Amino acid sequence: MDNLITLVNKLQRACTALGDHGEESALPTLWDSLPAIAVVGGQVLALPSLPRVLSWFLLDLVPRHICAGRISRFAGGTSSGKSSVLESVVGKDFLPRGSGIVTRRPLVLQLHRIDGDREYAEFMHQPRKRYTDFAAVRKEIADETDRETGRSKQISPVPIHLSIYSPYVVNLTLIDLPGLTKVAVEGQPDSIVQDIENMVRSYIEKPNSIILAVSPANQDLATSDAIKISREVDPKGERTFGVLTKIDLMDKGTDAVDILEGRSYRLQHPWVGVVNRSQQDINKNVDMIAARRRERDYFSTTPEYKHLAPRMGSEYLAKMLSKHLEQVIKSRIPGIQSLITKTIAELETELNRLGKPIANDAGGKLYTIMEICRMFDGIYKEHLDGVRPGGEKVYHVFDNQFPVAIKRLQFDKQLSMENVRKLITEADGYQPHLIAPEQGYRRLIESCLISIRGPAEAAVDAVHAILKDLVRKAINETHELKQFPTLRVEVGNAAFESLDRMRDESKKNTLKLVDMECSYLTVDFFRKLPQDVEKGGNPSHSIFDRYNDSYLRRIGQTVLSYVNMVCSTLRNSIPKSIVYCQVREAKRSLLDHFFTELGAREMKQLSKLLDEDPAVMERRTNLAKRLELYRSAQSEIDAVAWSK
Ligand code: GDP
Ligand code: MG
Repeated sequence: MDNLITLVNKLQRACTALGDHGEESALPTLWDSLPAIAVVGGQVLALPSLPRVLSWFLLDLVPRHICAGRISRFAGGTSSGKSSVLESVVGKDFLPRGSGIVTRRPLVLQLHRIDGDREYAEFMHQPRKRYTDFAAVRKEIADETDRETGRSKQISPVPIHLSIYSPYVVNLTLIDLPGLTKVAVEGQPDSIVQDIENMVRSYIEKPNSIILAVSPANQDLATSDAIKISREVDPKGERTFGVLTKIDLMDKGTDAVDILEGRSYRLQHPWVGVVNRSQQDINKNVDMIAARRRERDYFSTTPEYKHLAPRMGSEYLAKMLSKHLEQVIKSRIPGIQSLITKTIAELETELNRLGKPIANDAGGKLYTIMEICRMFDGIYKEHLDGVRPGGEKVYHVFDNQFPVAIKRLQFDKQLSMENVRKLITEADGYQPHLIAPEQGYRRLIESCLISIRGPAEAAVDAVHAILKDLVRKAINETHELKQFPTLRVEVGNAAFESLDRMRDESKKNTLKLVDMECSYLTVDFFRKLPQDVEKGGNPSHSIFDRYNDSYLRRIGQTVLSYVNMVCSTLRNSIPKSIVYCQVREAKRSLLDHFFTELGAREMKQLSKLLDEDPAVMERRTNLAKRLELYRSAQSEIDAVAWSK
């Protein structure tokens, strides 16, 4: 008994705490895995008086305030003594009894172990009512039976559910069933015999029920209804306990040794004989303790049973049942264990998904923020370096977008005959050039090169847009940032601000490259020109031909080829400048500013950055609590499993 209580308590501590947590993945409570104990037995008349289902775990703890029943019974005449067996095993009288039909509905009694020292009962049909007086419980069972069946001695398969809460019980279900009968009495329908049998069968056929098959010793065992029906549902006798009552009432000269030694009818578990209180004892209010003592004396002093004494009596029956129960419960342990292991894994996954809880101190918070930023930064770099996608778009700008934009500049239009003439003439001013239109060339070249600023700026902006887009991507991919919406926004903003600064710097430098080309022309290119003229030109042209078409066309062509030369240089150098100022810088120092500024923040501001969604916080706390419960349940159950 002690073992069983310890075992069940341990499991209970483990499982109930978890079950009570009320989430859908909660373990089934121990209730679900525990067996129910049902008592079956016959009744000569169709006056089912039902076994009072009680727990023998109350055994040593019978509260004195619960008095023995005062309703009279037949002195052992018709009933097999089911109620008496349960009562003596449990040690508590609180069910209605009488000589006639008493229990006409199944009584499903659930024992719940609770802490403290209160003891009370509740009926399912009276959800809010608590009984502390067990005599009142007895009365309510009788009244509730009548409510369903009328006073007509009918039986009903509708069970009465009674829960007993006590620190002295273990969680267990006991079922008090109407006694089996062979004939209907007056006022009962003929079907009653079959009805009772079906009802009893429906309870004892469940594989997790333990059957107490009660037969009176003063009747022929061959006619025992208990044996008959239990053999039907449990042919191997694995969960049937044969109990022989009324041994003291046997005819003089006869004894039950053959039955008790298993020769009359063999069961897996040994037969147990009991001597319950007689009707007279009940009338005299003989208490359980005294009844037990007398029972012990009976077996140890009666010569026929002396040798069997250690294996007889309700105490022994209780012990045997408790041992059996222990085995049954232990056999459920692996199932509970694997369920717990599985749940722990699920909880851990979920907790990982939610991220770590936040540190309480400023240092811890700062560290968390930096860690998360570093993760973001790492992901961002991976995008640029090709580990993750997106970086290749930058090259596309250099290789495609930028050259195409330059091509679209249409320098030839700018170098139309008219424009060339206009600019050359304007540059000459009041004094036309003497040898070559130096100023005119410069103006023409400058006017073309200046227009490259547009595509150069556009390239800077295009790369900027790509870099920004990658920030967004990296933020989304930084799992840890999801936990902290504020930090997420701030990191994003900080990165964008950095990129803006880099873009401005890049623009400055890139445009400088264009401007540099405007400010100093490559001399070599022009040194070659006179030779070209000598080679291809017509030296006989007089100075007055200077403003003629072919002269101007040649100037236009020279400018165009110079500008093209510069364009191809810029096509190489502008990407270098952009990468240097934006891409490289983004990789190096995207969050540098943010970090500097972070160091100056107060605890309060840091907390603000880590202001997790309260729902997530709560969920994490709950999950962590459950995980802890499951872990302790696991170790408790492991301990139970390893102990013999
Ligand atoms: P049930 O109808 O099967 O639940 O049987 P009860 O437990 O109500 O017992 C019917 C009657 O038999 C009661 O008056 C009991 O006192 C009496 N009785 C039961 N067991 C014994 C026993 O072992 N010895 C004696 N002398 N009387 C018993
Ligand atoms: Mg009874």
